[in-house]
Amino acid sequence: MRNLKSREIHLKSRPVGMPTPANFELAEVAVPEPKDGEVLVRNIWMSVDPYMRGRMMDRESYVPPFQIGQPLQGGAIGQVVAAGKGATFGVGDYLNHMLGWREYAVVGQAAMPQKVDPKLAPVQSFLGALGMPGLTAYVGLFKIGAFKDGETVFVSAASGAVGAVVCQLAKAHGAYVVGSAGSDEKCDWLVKEAKIDKAINYKKEKDLNAAVGAAFPKGIDVYFENVGGAHLEAAINHMRIHGRIAVCGMIEQYNNTTPAPGPANFIMVVPKSLRIEGFIVSNHFNELAKFHAEMGKLVAAGKMKWRESVVDGIENAPQAFLGLFKGDNFGKALVKVGPDKAV
Ligand code: NDP
Repeated sequence: MRNLKSREIHLKSRPVGMPTPANFELAEVAVPEPKDGEVLVRNIWMSVDPYMRGRMMDRESYVPPFQIGQPLQGGAIGQVVAAGKGATFGVGDYLNHMLGWREYAVVGQAAMPQKVDPKLAPVQSFLGALGMPGLTAYVGLFKIGAFKDGETVFVSAASGAVGAVVCQLAKAHGAYVVGSAGSDEKCDWLVKEAKIDKAINYKKEKDLNAAVGAAFPKGIDVYFENVGGAHLEAAINHMRIHGRIAVCGMIEQYNNTTPAPGPANFIMVVPKSLRIEGFIVSNHFNELAKFHAEMGKLVAAGKMKWRESVVDGIENAPQAFLGLFKGDNFGKALVKVGPDKAV
């Protein structure tokens, strides 16, 4: 017996409105041995994502809610330190799996483990541009947004994990791209590094609708919706006929305690013949091979860049999560949970 202890973050209470550190609790638990078919993983990186806010509510959804007094879950990258009999993975393998928010995880098939190759890219990029958020960008832009080469694209939360990939995929296909983000630093990066055409700092704009209109003299073909509220209303105002809105998320509303009003201009969907479609990335994992082929080309050509915001230590994971709703993260929000090499 190894007698290992693992620190992990539990949900202490369900947040009402904006979550606070008091909704989370650090616990120390004994780590069980892996059973047949399972592996014991020492986590190195874990992801914090906006969708986790939804799982903190007790409601029926596409994934079950987190349970009070239990560890949270989410994407993580770690290294196998011990393997049970008949396990598919061996000691030293790097795995992307769903048992984040803890230092050690006993991983079976339910945690959806996938081997990652550290020679291909830094392993944490499989939690960001090369992983779930990147696939979300790809599916949302091409499949849901039905984007065609050379169209005009508006992206909200544009410097984030999903948004930055959307921007650069569209640019690589000849689009005119405008992104919105919450600081001048993020906007500068979008124009200088991600090479989009214009960036709008929505926190500084007195009239977001006018700023979006000025940035799109010919209108918007595809709006990639990450935020909701005033962004959605501005986009609807400036969509072209037969435009498409890919509804990926509406982070502005995740902490609301009362329902947000619908866009006041929703009626314009009719004369403009707009198509508005939401999606969940986990229903599109069959696009993974095409996504990897596309990203491989762009990364090799230096045409896909991303930023990471790293918070150190499992004890600080709640802080990293809370920062998502304040724009503290610039790019993919990650927590460094342990050393790069576990064995
Ligand atoms: P990001 O890396 O973009 O981080 C969240 C960002 O949202 C913040 O940095 C902040 O950036 C912005 N933001 C936070 N609160 C507000 C607000 N009130 N108004 C405007 N902007 C705000 O996160 P992701 O890239 O991981 O996720 C982006 C969106 O995609 C989210 O809505 C998420 O829920 C959704 N998503 C959906 C998936 C699906 O399957 N449908 C899968 C993955 C993500 P800024 O400084 O620019 O304000």
